[in-house]
Amino acid sequence: MARTDARPALARGPSGCRYWRFVRISHAGIVALGAIAAIGWPVSGRAQGPRATGEVAQQGPTATVDSTSIGRTNRGRLEGGVLLPPSASLRWRNEVATTRWGTRELVALVEDAAEHVSRTLPGAQLVVGDLSRQGGGRFRPHRSHRNGRDVDIAFYMLDAQGRPAYAPRFVRFRGDGSERGGTRRFDDARNWELVARLLTSPAAHVQWIFVSRPLEERLLAEGRRRGSSSELLARAAAVLDQPSRGGRHDDHFHVRIYCAADDRPRCIDEPPFHPWVAAGPTPPASRSAVARSRPARRPRRDRAT
Ligand SMILES: [Zn+2]
Repeated sequence: MARTDARPALARGPSGCRYWRFVRISHAGIVALGAIAAIGWPVSGRAQGPRATGEVAQQGPTATVDSTSIGRTNRGRLEGGVLLPPSASLRWRNEVATTRWGTRELVALVEDAAEHVSRTLPGAQLVVGDLSRQGGGRFRPHRSHRNGRDVDIAFYMLDAQGRPAYAPRFVRFRGDGSERGGTRRFDDARNWELVARLLTSPAAHVQWIFVSRPLEERLLAEGRRRGSSSELLARAAAVLDQPSRGGRHDDHFHVRIYCAADDRPRCIDEPPFHPWVAAGPTPPASRSAVARSRPARRPRRDRAT
């Protein structure tokens, strides 16, 4: 509130007390202020400029503006964010469109992963929670989610008859795959397929998938059971993690991606930098990879390595 109150005070210009003191000191100041009032600059221009610019940025057409993730995930903002749309393979957890904005890379990654799972194991939609707000910035109750590089994803789950199940809230699961306080089951096959795709998609490089430790072990066991490569299992073991702060994550995945190459240096990554992310913290050729991944065709896995 204090900040918005300050702007109209500036707009009052010469009648404000700061300017009055200046006028008393100098006759030349009176002449100067008269000239300023005559051309309408800079007092009124400064007061209105930032607000007008902000409104244009908020309303700009996202399809023609590339996104830029600025700063850190817990202290940043998002320029030119892209709205993640629902599709045949993806639904929002609820209808709050104001919290579904991400970088082009993150939106492409989630779309790609959802399409991959529905192609591999048809019959279920991925359920997506919060990304960032349009323009990013502080987003309670999250610590991060501020610059379009974080997304919360519900677990795929099955009802008592083994059919895909959905809920308007995230649902908590134990390490044995059973629901806390319910009869649904953690969908091992689809959740592993989702993790596997997030770790190999050419759309973006994933730094973290936060999930509770018992569910991490469950997912890795599913990967081994399905004959996943040792390299993929090693990646999953490095990326899946129960965070030391910010909750157990036994009811959703929190996925974070690295900065896109062309968002640097304004976009800032924190360690760790996984060894399979070529050239350290800067993903190579991510822009062209994203462009290739947007049509519904199968991207090449080897591009991620
Ligand atoms: Zn989150």
